[in-house]
Amino acid sequence: MKILLIAATHGNELLGIKLYERLLKKRSPLLEKIDFVIGNPKAYAKKLRYTDKDLNRSYEASGTEYEVLRAREIKEYIRITSPDIVLDMHTTNCVQPNCLIVHNLDGDIKKKFLRASHIDTVLQVQAMGDIVGVGDNVIGYEVPNNAVTPMLLDAIAQDLQNFVSHRESHPDKKFYRMLGKIYKQDVSQQRAKSFVNFQKHDLGFVPIMTGNNSYKKQTDYLGFKASETEEIKV
Ligand SMILES: [Zn+2]
Repeated sequence: MKILLIAATHGNELLGIKLYERLLKKRSPLLEKIDFVIGNPKAYAKKLRYTDKDLNRSYEASGTEYEVLRAREIKEYIRITSPDIVLDMHTTNCVQPNCLIVHNLDGDIKKKFLRASHIDTVLQVQAMGDIVGVGDNVIGYEVPNNAVTPMLLDAIAQDLQNFVSHRESHPDKKFYRMLGKIYKQDVSQQRAKSFVNFQKHDLGFVPIMTGNNSYKKQTDYLGFKASETEEIKV
């Protein structure tokens, strides 16, 4: 089993860096199974999310921006090294539970990883030129910044250990399917304040990635909407 760990796809999100540092510090035997790559080294060095363009929107893009070229390199690297699973590590300022992100549930290897992970919230996203849509074996971690503790890092390390040892942790998952964006023009600011991520709202959907001062951002949407939770066994 070979795991490709992609840290800092967004240069200011340090979950993958901290996880790898912890494994190094402990001289973990898991290191033998892990290949480590910094997704966006230029943005990481500058403590920025990205420099020219969001790397996680560049996997299907054409152009000559730094991130588009970097996305091409990473895709080629995955093709050449053919890891069993690719983990893309993110953090967020949003208030939300720790979650795993997939493009779909196709393929046994992804389900095997989901079963091995202690995280029970799984979000299925639509492909938006991000890495989860690139290969059939990519899983994202998305955790709030303030949840990144040594305890969480050890729990994630245990996920990886379970995976390589063919062990299960939590096969029962809360599964959410992303349906689209929540546009500002459709929701009052007052209403938007009542959103709780990953909890069904009166408006009939589950808000995802809302908050984080969304109203101040230069976007026409507040976050995403997902379908109601399904309890599934992967
Ligand atoms: Zn991110």
